[in-house]
Amino acid sequence: MYDILIIGGGPAGLTAATYACRAGKSVLVLEKAAFGGQITWSPRVENFPGFVSISGNELGDKLLEQAMEQGAEVELEEVTGLEKTAEGWKALCDSGAAFEGKALILAAGARPRMLGVAREEELVGSGVGYCAVCDGAFYKNKAVAVNGGGNSALQDALLLSETCSKVYLIHRRDSFRGEQKLVDALRERENVEFVLNASVTALLGEEELCGIAVEQNGQSREIPVEGLFVAIGHQPDLEAFAPWLNRDKAGYADAGEDCLTPTEGLFVAGDCRKKTVRQLTTAAADGAVAALAACHWLDR
Ligand code: NAP
Repeated sequence: MYDILIIGGGPAGLTAATYACRAGKSVLVLEKAAFGGQITWSPRVENFPGFVSISGNELGDKLLEQAMEQGAEVELEEVTGLEKTAEGWKALCDSGAAFEGKALILAAGARPRMLGVAREEELVGSGVGYCAVCDGAFYKNKAVAVNGGGNSALQDALLLSETCSKVYLIHRRDSFRGEQKLVDALRERENVEFVLNASVTALLGEEELCGIAVEQNGQSREIPVEGLFVAIGHQPDLEAFAPWLNRDKAGYADAGEDCLTPTEGLFVAGDCRKKTVRQLTTAAADGAVAALAACHWLDR
């Protein structure tokens, strides 16, 4: 039985672990994929205080190292269910393992949003992807498209333009939500074409993607690409925990800046929480707030 179980090993979960350990609590962090969470998909992070420029993977490693140095235990396990016990919580994992804690911090983050175009799921891994950092190398000297207008799409397009023959950046508006600095850098790349006021309407190719159909300003157009990177934001992954949470319409856990939930001993931190700014810094801030709230609750 740990004092605090933390579900999610991204910046929120690992910061929570560091704070809770420093407050003398025993902590187990359960992460289903990669410690560091979404940032492991970022080639370069330039807005985390104290680091002028660092790769997402390296920052993830540092957050993990810091939490473990303070005494946090970690396991690569996917939590698929929760049980309330007399003493706290039991996290049930898909491997069959179960871990118990007196308090629980949910820092499960968010997963990429899908476009919702026909055959999208079928073509995942055969041309359709959600992580340019992970899969971009497969498209060296090939034409690809990136869909989205936030920082993820802009960063993906920049990264891909370094190795791909051509990058089409498709966005449904004529202006971007992401940082102007990234837009300016993309405008300087000769192999990047902006396809604005446009939506992907179909995926072409039988077993492998060979192009996309796009509707732009009311006109249809086909663009030959071997890869499509979808970067249109994220959605929370809280289905397994739904019985224990109030959630907003988009599925985010309805907890305030204090990271408290209506359920005793349950705290929510990071991108899975309803909030207006989802950044590394705000995730880390949530981690600290949730950890201290959990410690306070345990010491009550
Ligand atoms: P985001 O900022 O939410 O942007 C999502 C983009 O996808 C928006 O441009 C949106 O268009 C578009 N979109 C949403 N649904 C769509 C749909 N169904 N069809 C077509 N387009 C759609 O998401 P993000 O880029 O993944 O970034 C998430 C957060 O992480 C942001 O706060 C971002 O700044 C941060 N981030 C930071 C870094 C970094 O610090 N290095 C890197 C990546 C991301 P509209 O603009 O029209 O709504």
